[in-house]
Amino acid sequence: MKEGKILIVGGGIGGLTAAIALRGKGFEVDLLERDPTWSVYGVGIIQQSNVVRAVAQLGILDDYLEAGFGFDHVEVYLPDGRQVAKIPAPKLAEGYPANIGIGRPALHKVLGDRAKASGANIRLGVTSESLKDDGAGVDVAFSDGSAGRYDLVIGADGLYSATRRAIIPDAPIPEPTGQSVWRYNFVRPDDVTCLCAYEGPMGIGLVPLSADRMYMFVTTPETPGRRFEREGLAAEMRARLRNAPPRISELTAKITDDDEVVYKPLECLFVDGPWHRGRIVLLGDAVHATTPHLGQGAGMAIEDSLVLADELAKADTPEQAFEAYQARRFERCRYIVERSRAIGDAQLGKGPPADTAGESRKMFEITAQPI
Ligand SMILES: Cc1cc2nc3c(=O)[nH]c(=O)nc-3n(C[C@H](O)[C@H](O)[C@H](O)COP(=O)(O)OP(=O)(O)OC[C@H]3O[C@@H](n4cnc5c(N)ncnc54)[C@H](O)[C@@H]3O)c2cc1C
Repeated sequence: MKEGKILIVGGGIGGLTAAIALRGKGFEVDLLERDPTWSVYGVGIIQQSNVVRAVAQLGILDDYLEAGFGFDHVEVYLPDGRQVAKIPAPKLAEGYPANIGIGRPALHKVLGDRAKASGANIRLGVTSESLKDDGAGVDVAFSDGSAGRYDLVIGADGLYSATRRAIIPDAPIPEPTGQSVWRYNFVRPDDVTCLCAYEGPMGIGLVPLSADRMYMFVTTPETPGRRFEREGLAAEMRARLRNAPPRISELTAKITDDDEVVYKPLECLFVDGPWHRGRIVLLGDAVHATTPHLGQGAGMAIEDSLVLADELAKADTPEQAFEAYQARRFERCRYIVERSRAIGDAQLGKGPPADTAGESRKMFEITAQPI
């Protein structure tokens, strides 16, 4: 397919990178984002070396680096605070750091600005109400009463994807894992210059985001789906860090603002069967939502976007492109979802103990393979 009009449902990391990649191949792109304010929460994200390579292929690596913090190692610590490993991450983009920590709002701005500049037509506060695929195209009714016809539709609408429900009604639903993540931003101390990960039943980590910011994440066992009132959230997070190593305890005292705590119960999902039906295809969390234990969920969505655009530009039919896309993505995404879940289960005492350093080394080795 050398040309065509494509609708992307969802303006998150997957949808925006798909828009940039598809515009780069010359496709016409409309993108729908249902959130009229298009907001993201204010903590950060780790982009590992394979993601740095993918972002370089998208042509936006300099913007990323300017908005984030590059680093080349992962430091692993025991629960008592002793360092046990310093794992080098492969450098997959020549002349650039191996990994990047970046604030979600900063990342969203880079991707949103680039998607707009690429010529994608972005519509906020709008979603698709119905998708009718007649074999030659897809008729879409929008929530604002308007309508459109597209050659293809991409569902990049995340874990609770309505597009997935529409085309694969018997797909699995998101599964709560029994863990939640607590996150908080801090001023970055001089000694946090890479991801610092603490082993133990609670996964704790420090991630540099910029010259002056970093965030802490803490993964704790919680009743599946448990939510908290905003008032008292900082005290809840501090309580979970009571027996943390000294470096973490020093920071714990600074967790005081309920509004700055970002709490998220973890869920995962993997669609084992086809990721498309007819002219409609899924990417990112809509088909493979992982827990964050390997820091690769957004990375997989970004790689999906590159591979899908590549296959669409090469293939004669959507079917050929979608099958080739899934074949290139399936095992890699499955590995990330399954191993991330296994690390979480180990922390919960539900599976064999996880070797954090070994898992990180293996993840770097596997994801360094070409996509
Ligand atoms: C606690 C936590 C920490 C994480 N840390 C990392 C990390 O360090 N590194 C990493 O690579 N990944 C990380 N991830 C994973 C990463 O956040 C996700 O994999 C990534 O955001 C998936 O992108 P997506 O575009 O597929 O979905 P989303 O980011 O969920 O985006 C979906 C978008 O679609 C919109 N939408 C939904 N429904 C509709 C609709 N019907 N119509 C229109 N728009 C719609 C939503 O508003 C949203 O903007 C983490 C995840 C969690 C939960």
